Amino acid sequence: MVKVVKFGGSSLADSAQFRKVMNIINAENDRKYVVPSAPGKRSKDDTKVTDLLYRCYELAAKGENIDEAFSAIMDRYNSIIKELGLSLDLTGEFEQIKSSMIHKAGRDYAASRGEYLSGIVLANALGYKFIDAADVIFFKEDGSLDSEKTNEVLSDVLKDCDNAVIPGFYGVMPNDTVKTFSRGGSDITGSIVARAVEADLYENWTDVNGFLMADPRVVKDPCTISKITYRELRELSYMGATVLHEDAIFPVRTAGIPINIRNTNHPEEAGTMIVAKSDGYDHQRVITGIAGKHGFSTIFIEKDMMNSEIGFGRRVLEVLERENISFEHLPSGVDTMTVVIASDALAGKRERIIEKLTAAVNPDSITLNDGIALIAVVGRGMQNAKGTAARIFKAIAEADVNIRMIDQGSSELNIIIAVDECDFEKAMNAIYHEYVSE
Ligand code: ASP
Repeated sequence: MVKVVKFGGSSLADSAQFRKVMNIINAENDRKYVVPSAPGKRSKDDTKVTDLLYRCYELAAKGENIDEAFSAIMDRYNSIIKELGLSLDLTGEFEQIKSSMIHKAGRDYAASRGEYLSGIVLANALGYKFIDAADVIFFKEDGSLDSEKTNEVLSDVLKDCDNAVIPGFYGVMPNDTVKTFSRGGSDITGSIVARAVEADLYENWTDVNGFLMADPRVVKDPCTISKITYRELRELSYMGATVLHEDAIFPVRTAGIPINIRNTNHPEEAGTMIVAKSDGYDHQRVITGIAGKHGFSTIFIEKDMMNSEIGFGRRVLEVLERENISFEHLPSGVDTMTVVIASDALAGKRERIIEKLTAAVNPDSITLNDGIALIAVVGRGMQNAKGTAARIFKAIAEADVNIRMIDQGSSELNIIIAVDECDFEKAMNAIYHEYVSE
């Protein structure tokens, strides 16, 4: 069994966290390949090393002195090294990084040094081999990941290593400069490494017990999801549920490797398992999760005999296309059609769009409503459980919330419900408690 383990910034924030990480790795021989982030926040008001590095970059770019800002970074690593009792001296590395920054090495180079140094420290502490991500993770000229070259080189390099630490977040461009993924990108590196070594499992260690069934800012103490499919996860992340970087799913999904989200501070918890397919479903949990987003508008179009007017939908969507607006949902009735759009996308174009739509389809009425929130109720169990929609709508009605729109995908994997923004929390809680108090 081979496991790739990725640790997020909060898992490596200080020496005490490093110790937890080392205990987790040493607890199982299978945990062979380790992908660390840069040290994150030690407390709410602390600053992540990555952000300290961006600050240094900005100062250097303006030609200002970076001594003080850079000292803060050195202090973070030096205290970890000292408190772990390692005989490791990063002076040479620090000097080189500082001088590259002063000589205006790129922004991505600066940011990547957090993971790079984290990797050196962790490899030293574990006695694992350190492999610089710039030697094994490749980007193409257009900035996208060169996944085939990366997979080829990385699997070749790792095949000769029993264990290794590969820093997250960055790789190299064809011109040899360092490039990072977007923020939170160490998740992607972990996934790439898991694919390259054909791991049995990709463990992603963070500071929560896994994916929660709902946003804890909206629903009090929501349960953790024990198992979720990639597709369900995609639906929930699209609606704003975050724990894992979105792009981290693709490499392992292609290779059929499950991801296990775990909590470094509570390794006794099983976390959330993300799998390609789940056999059967838990009858207790028809619903896997609920996610919601504010800030939508609806354009409601009504026209007698719309149903038989061929090309009606196309003409509506063409207007939006020409305005470069993407729509989120498109529920329609016999003589009505609603287009749901993120309100931001309409800024400065509202009147023009209504005029153009009117000219394009000559509707009986057309109304634009703002202040809409969308709620996605996601669950593979819904395919098998009759009456799910009825149950959700009843719960919402009992909470005295008016449903503005409903959209059920044909996959029966999710139901999207639009409500007024002021009813959002009430509706989320009503749906959650309908299922979780079971
Ligand atoms: N350190 C980077 C960030 O703060 C990448 C990561 O942690 O995944 O975004």
